[in-house]
Amino acid sequence: MGVHTSKNDRKQPDAGNFDPSVCPLCGKANGCAATAGRPPETCWCSRATFSEKTLSRIPPELRMRACLCGECADRASTD
Ligand SMILES: [Zn+2]
Repeated sequence: MGVHTSKNDRKQPDAGNFDPSVCPLCGKANGCAATAGRPPETCWCSRATFSEKTLSRIPPELRMRACLCGECADRASTD
């Protein structure tokens, strides 16, 4: 289960100014497949799992919506 899980389920217009191509933790490009026009299920994040601890660092309005970058995901896996 990755961060795309509920991407298309709920649209929250009040979180409308987030950029799904940018890591919500560090602001760098996250290389997400979905934002590159590829199917979200081909994104590395659809195969990655993130701990509650990692998810708790992501602003709630961005959780499950924007991909982490590889760097933050790496750091998350060593938590
Ligand atoms: Zn990052």
